[in-house]
Amino acid sequence: MGTTRASLHTLGCRLNQAETSILGEGLRRKGFELVEFGQPTDVLILNTCSVTEDAERTSRYLIRKTLKHSPHAFVAVTGCYAQTGMEQLKRQAGIDLIVGHQFKLDLPAYLPAVHELRKRSTPDIHHTKTMARGDFDLPYFAEPDSTRALLKIQDGCSAMCSFCIIPFARGHERSRAFDDILREAESLVAGGYREIVLTGVNIGQYVHGGNDFCALLRRLDQVEGFDRIRISSIEPTTISEELLDLIASSKKFCPYLHIPLQSGDDEILQAMNRRHTIKEYRALIDRAFAKIPDLGLGTDLMVGFPGETDEAFQNTLAVATDLPFSYIHVFPYSTRPGTAAARLKQRIPSPSVKKRADQLLELDRAKRLAFHNKQIGKTVSVLFEAGTHSAYRFGTTPNFTRVAVTDAAELQNQIMPVTITAATDRYGFGHITLPQAIPSTMALL
Ligand code: SF4
Repeated sequence: MGTTRASLHTLGCRLNQAETSILGEGLRRKGFELVEFGQPTDVLILNTCSVTEDAERTSRYLIRKTLKHSPHAFVAVTGCYAQTGMEQLKRQAGIDLIVGHQFKLDLPAYLPAVHELRKRSTPDIHHTKTMARGDFDLPYFAEPDSTRALLKIQDGCSAMCSFCIIPFARGHERSRAFDDILREAESLVAGGYREIVLTGVNIGQYVHGGNDFCALLRRLDQVEGFDRIRISSIEPTTISEELLDLIASSKKFCPYLHIPLQSGDDEILQAMNRRHTIKEYRALIDRAFAKIPDLGLGTDLMVGFPGETDEAFQNTLAVATDLPFSYIHVFPYSTRPGTAAARLKQRIPSPSVKKRADQLLELDRAKRLAFHNKQIGKTVSVLFEAGTHSAYRFGTTPNFTRVAVTDAAELQNQIMPVTITAATDRYGFGHITLPQAIPSTMALL
C-alpha cells in the first residue's frame, strides 16, 4: 500500500503559521506523508482566518478547489473561522472534521488512522464556545517559516477592539508556561535555527508565574546558540521603556517592531476602542527611535471603519506620512458579525474604501523605497533563506530589510555581511563583503 498524503494550508497570521507547523509534525508522526498544498492529496488540513469576510470566502474556495483535484480527500478545518463560523462550515459540502480553537492542537488525534480514512456524510465536530485558561499547552517543537523558527508564547486577546473578531475566535489572553518556552527555545537551538520569532496574539501581555514579557525576554536572551530573537506584532500600549531598553542593549534582539496604529484620527481610534491616542503613539515612536536609531518599524492601518470621514482619513494619511514607518500593512474594514463595530451605522461605500486603501498602498511603496534607500552604503548582516528566486538569493537583516544578492554559493541559514548598493521598494540589493559566514557576535551588525 502506498503512503497516505496530507497537505496543510494556513490563512492569516504568523501564529496560525506556527500552529500549522505543529499540526504538520503531528501528522507526520501519525504516518502521513506531507505534500505541498495544491498537489493531489488524501487529507487537507486548512488552518483558517476570520479577520475579514474575504479570508472566510477564500477558505471555502480552497476547500472546493482541493476537492476538484482530490475528490476523496478528507477535509479538516480549524482556526478562527472554524471557531466563529462553525454553523456555516457545517453546511458546506465536503468538510469531514471541524475543530475549534480549544482543541486545535489535538487535531491529528481526531483524524482517523491512515487506513480508515473515508469521507463522512456529516462532519465530526470538536468545538466549544468558551476557552478555559488551563487548556493552553503545546508540544516542545516548532518549525521554521524559511530559516526563522516561530515560537508561540501567548494566545488570545482581551482588548476588545470594536472591529476585531479575535477575542471571540481565540478567546481571552493566556500565556504559555515560562519553562515550556525556554525548553522549546533550547530545542530550536539544537535544531540549528539562528533566528526565533516570538509569536502570539497580544504578546506584550505575556505573564506567567510572576514573569512578565520583559522577564521572558531577559531569560531568552541568555539561551545560548541563537543569533537573533525577533518580536512579532506588539500592541503600542504594552511597550514599556524597559522593553525598548532591552532591545537597544541586547546583542540578540532585532531592532525591529511592528506596532499597529489602525487609524491616525483620535475619534476613530476611540470608536475602535483602541487604548491609545495619536499623541501617545507618536511619543512612543519618538522614544523608540531615540533608543534604537536603526529601528525597522512596521504598522497596520485600517481604512473604511464606520464613520471614517474624508477628514479622518486625511488625518490618517498625514500621520502615516509623517511617522518613520518602513512599511505599512493596509486593511480595508470588514464587518465581523458579533463585534461592536458591526452595529455601527455610517458605513463607508466600497469605492471610497478602495480609493483610501490605494492611497495608503502608494504611501507604503514610497516608505519601503525610502527605508531601503537609507540602507545603501551600509554593511549589514543578512540571514539567508533557502533556495533562489530568479537568480537571486534572499535574506533579511535584523531591522527586517529584505536583501537580494546574486552570489551563487549555497547560503541557506548562514548569516553573512552584505554591503547594500541599490534598492527598490521591494528589496535592497547588495554583495557579500566577506568570503565566509560571520561569527554570531557580529550577527547584529
Ligand atoms: S489588540 Fe485589538 S486588534 Fe489586536 S487582537 Fe486584540 S482585539 Fe484584536
